[in-house]
Amino acid sequence: MDIASRARLALAFGASLVEYAREGPPRPFSASFAVTNRCNLRCSYCNFPHLDPTHLDLDDIARLFDRLASLGVVRLGLVGGEPLVRKDLGAIVALARARGFFVSLNSHLMLYRQNEPVFDDVDLVFTSLDGDAEAHRINRGAHSLDGVHAAISALRGRGKTVIAICVVNEATIDRADALLDLATRLDVRVHFQPQCVDTTIVRGSLSRSLTNERMRGFFAELAKKKRAGESIASTTGYLEFLANWRDFFVSAHPDPDARCAAGRGFLFVDPLGDAYPCAYTKGKTAPINLLRDDWRVRFSGETPCTQCSVGPMLEANLLFRHPLRSVLDAARSYR
Ligand code: SF4
Repeated sequence: MDIASRARLALAFGASLVEYAREGPPRPFSASFAVTNRCNLRCSYCNFPHLDPTHLDLDDIARLFDRLASLGVVRLGLVGGEPLVRKDLGAIVALARARGFFVSLNSHLMLYRQNEPVFDDVDLVFTSLDGDAEAHRINRGAHSLDGVHAAISALRGRGKTVIAICVVNEATIDRADALLDLATRLDVRVHFQPQCVDTTIVRGSLSRSLTNERMRGFFAELAKKKRAGESIASTTGYLEFLANWRDFFVSAHPDPDARCAAGRGFLFVDPLGDAYPCAYTKGKTAPINLLRDDWRVRFSGETPCTQCSVGPMLEANLLFRHPLRSVLDAARSYR
């Protein structure tokens, strides 16, 4: 990311943080937009492909992006399902760039070869590596690694930053060292997130053979590895938070002593333009359709939970809870 883009992002985050601190109107600087729920994989923990397969057309997406820009959003995550199953994803990325968004794309990268030009204007790529090859295939399916390592190498060759996301569950918890070796070889960093439970976008649950003590120990060990310089993208604050998470069989809960920045600092939009404070709250809060309604007017400011162990949302929340430390850590980790 060039200096001008960093400055824009920093200013937008600063404005968002000020409104959050003074409990002013919502001013999200970041949004995730699921361009589709469809996917050619059926990962054991993901429910997106089992949700409504319909999505907005390009005209409506252009209107949606205008709405997001008017809210103050400058960072846009394009997610799915698998975004690359949409033949018009390149046009969606172009619409995002035309509005000056910093664009990240979450993709399993199996369809990279047929879609290389789509990545020209993508700033940051998130993909999935669930442990070593065996664990990855257990979680994500027999062919789920086909072409993925080659795609990552090609993207790194093009100078793109690639972050690999590893879902921590029974299949992967003992494979972190193998994954970190692979990440070093592929020149990427890894974000580790506990398998999320109990919401519309996920299915399955953590195996009962995984104790909370073991999960906490895993994240404590990762924090040590991160300090030792291993290829870990997750921030130290995030890893330390998870090393103290009470119950991994509960991904989120209300806590009267905590505030959550979802909806104020960041939000999630589904493929039909229905917005929620974050992806986890889809199905737990009433949707606000951004094509019809003004988020600033309709969002109550309330979230059904205020503490969570949900990977991307926790990282986002820590930015608002400990801005200086988290921004410096994130800037180093996701550069
Ligand atoms: S605590 Fe906030 S960010 Fe986390 S799941 Fe609940 S609403 Fe979303």
